[in-house]
Amino acid sequence: MSTVTSPSGPAANARPFLHGPELAAIGRALQAGQYGHGPETDAFELELAAYLGVDDVVTVATGTAALHLALLAADVGPADEVIVPSLTFCACIQAILATGARPRFVEVDPRTLCVTAEHIRAALTSATRAVMPVLYGGRAVDLSPIRDQLADREIAVVEDAAHAFGSVNGDRFVGATDDLTCFSFDAIKALTCGDGGAIVPRDPAEAGRLRRARLLGMTAVWEERVRTVSYQVSVPGFRYHLSTLHAAIGRVQLTNFDKVAARRKHLWRRYAAATIDIPDVVVVDLDVANTVPFNCVVRIAARVRDAVHARLHAAGIQAGVHYPPNHLQPGFARWSCALPATEAVAAEILSLPFHPDLTEDDVALVTAELTAAVAAETAACDTAAVLTGLPEVRR
Ligand SMILES: *Cc1c(COP(=O)(O)O)cnc(C)c1O
Repeated sequence: MSTVTSPSGPAANARPFLHGPELAAIGRALQAGQYGHGPETDAFELELAAYLGVDDVVTVATGTAALHLALLAADVGPADEVIVPSLTFCACIQAILATGARPRFVEVDPRTLCVTAEHIRAALTSATRAVMPVLYGGRAVDLSPIRDQLADREIAVVEDAAHAFGSVNGDRFVGATDDLTCFSFDAIKALTCGDGGAIVPRDPAEAGRLRRARLLGMTAVWEERVRTVSYQVSVPGFRYHLSTLHAAIGRVQLTNFDKVAARRKHLWRRYAAATIDIPDVVVVDLDVANTVPFNCVVRIAARVRDAVHARLHAAGIQAGVHYPPNHLQPGFARWSCALPATEAVAAEILSLPFHPDLTEDDVALVTAELTAAVAAETAACDTAAVLTGLPEVRR
């Protein structure tokens, strides 16, 4: 693939990928002189809806803003509870708290790092107003076993699909399954606007409410007196719109998205094949046939994980832990609870460098360093390394 990014290599854990025409597109948008919500934003929304096969898409400034507005659209507010996995980016929790509601943390399946319908069913209370499945790594979450139960209790599903643009859920794209789905287009997501986000609304009225809320609650009104357009503020709102400059980047990214999707699948399969023979290492399954992989996460016995992480770092390879569990964060201590499976798996996970600029040689280099690091560290341990629950991986 052609690229205008700086030299590639395995060093970075994640990085933006540009196709090239983004530079000209942003130049045109700058010269057009309208930098706020503008024609590029409207065009991007239509193109996103066409790509996903949905009626409408509402863009916003960030994925976090998308989660916040989607929760408000689902009527989440003070006194309500939102069920969310602890193992996610802290943005989920901050979006919940911003509505005045409280998070109810749940476990994830250690094989997929995603919540299951059972986890959610077990956590439902009379205060539950919404559930927020996180599509970890891009993998779709199937809540069909509890869909009727949630609908009967008027509990909304607000999907955090920040990792999952382009993934499929059954025979439809993630976002086309009638939930409130939120995407992120931040720097390291598979489709980037620099910063950006989007919500797939459930109906046209909801789309209208989201559009008002993202632009300070304003609607345009015609002032006959001066025969010009002014505005009226009808509801509370936020400055959450997607600027036309960011949308211009996103439109180029969307046009070229299928190339990036194929590249990410290819690199993930390479990693999966290259790590299969490393003793004491398993790759977290993300159902690659249906998923545009956001990352490549391996599990390594907890007693050696940090030492392996440090060895990779010393070798110039940036691995990472995604994510430190939120129920253990000091800022979220009030809502903490016992989540032993999450704590166990969080001590095993390591995200390997993963972005479209990686070459097959890079993947080989990372896996060679990983093999050596794990071998050195397990040899230094007297007891055998044991992973919690043995995953099955579809390659
Ligand atoms: C990136 C991300 C977000 C937030 O998106 P921003 O665009 O960075 O605000 C939320 N959840 C997850 C899982 C993410 O990876």
